[in-house]
Amino acid sequence: MTIGVVGAGQLGRMLALAGYPLGLDFLFLDRSADVPAAALAPVLVGEFTDRALLRRLARRCEVLSFDWENISVPTLRAAARGSGTRISPPLRALATGQDRLLEKRLFERLRIPTTRYAPVGSRAALQRACARIGLPGVLKTRRLGYDGKGQYVIRRRADIDSAWEALGGSPLLYEEFVDFELEVSAIGTRARDGSEAIYPLTRNWHAGGILRLSVAPWRAPSLERQGRAHLRAVLRDFRYVGTLAIEFFVRDGRLVANELAPRVHNSGHWTIEGAVTSQFENHLRAIAGLPLGSAAAVGHAAMVNLIGRMPAAADVLAQPGVHLHDYGKSPRPGRKLGHCTLLAATPGERDRRTRALLRRLALSLRGAP
Ligand code: AMP
Repeated sequence: MTIGVVGAGQLGRMLALAGYPLGLDFLFLDRSADVPAAALAPVLVGEFTDRALLRRLARRCEVLSFDWENISVPTLRAAARGSGTRISPPLRALATGQDRLLEKRLFERLRIPTTRYAPVGSRAALQRACARIGLPGVLKTRRLGYDGKGQYVIRRRADIDSAWEALGGSPLLYEEFVDFELEVSAIGTRARDGSEAIYPLTRNWHAGGILRLSVAPWRAPSLERQGRAHLRAVLRDFRYVGTLAIEFFVRDGRLVANELAPRVHNSGHWTIEGAVTSQFENHLRAIAGLPLGSAAAVGHAAMVNLIGRMPAAADVLAQPGVHLHDYGKSPRPGRKLGHCTLLAATPGERDRRTRALLRRLALSLRGAP
């Protein structure tokens, strides 16, 4: 069976790495041939809006999936029409994951607590939103935002004009600034027959809007229960097939939904070594119509993103229990180039080794283990 993947970044690359043992083949589509998944499978090169190219991809695979959200939903739908190719995850989930306003409305409809927000289409609307929701707050582009891009923190009224100058060209959303205790993500997979595999809760640390560190399982029974319930509600609502992640803030012991990703997620990379079945393998099992594998943790994992510059492999691997993933990308400030995951037998050992690893990588994160 050939899996077509729109986008050939590191997520696509890790999907292929997980899929070959299952006997799956892959065909990617991306804007450049110089992409992380190109080392593993052929890449059709062209724009994501190129309907003819998407049609070629659809005709050559049994299932069509994607490794990032910012693809035109109508173009994808039209390209797959008549090809007999199944698109998984469902396009409704993709459309929702592309637009922060649709995400908020989904969370509200499913009674999943989320931030107070207002859509913003003009400078006057931004002023009204700041007055109603209060300061500080975050102005975000509704679409195409990732890794903290397309965001502006408004701390005082004097910031409103500069925030509008920075982002004013596109549809926006203003939301309250959450003084969170911590951030977590809930990740799980749903199969075609409705069965689910939900991973243990992951705790995340961001800096500058980019994920730096994930630790799992994050043992916090009440948060875990809330995360599972919210994730299940979303999976069922979409009649979802594949892996999905929801990122939450934790405030006063309650989860507050930030955003969802209708795909495998960076905060789930620890599952490659740290779970019985990785998020990538379960995504493929789901979309290929195969039974899901257990999402149970096999130890205590910490995943560190390698951003901007790759450390020497020997340095990272000299640390006990550490696995390295190099995406084969050229270095650029702020770019995710790889990650490493350490696996330990106990939470105490994991935290001790995480501290050593962070020191080795010269990374200091407030509140990290
Ligand atoms: P996002 O792209 O929305 O996931 O934002 C990236 C990161 O920026 C989040 O994981 C938070 O660390 C921070 N952030 C985003 N929105 C807010 C908010 N409303 N309040 C506080 N921090 C935020």
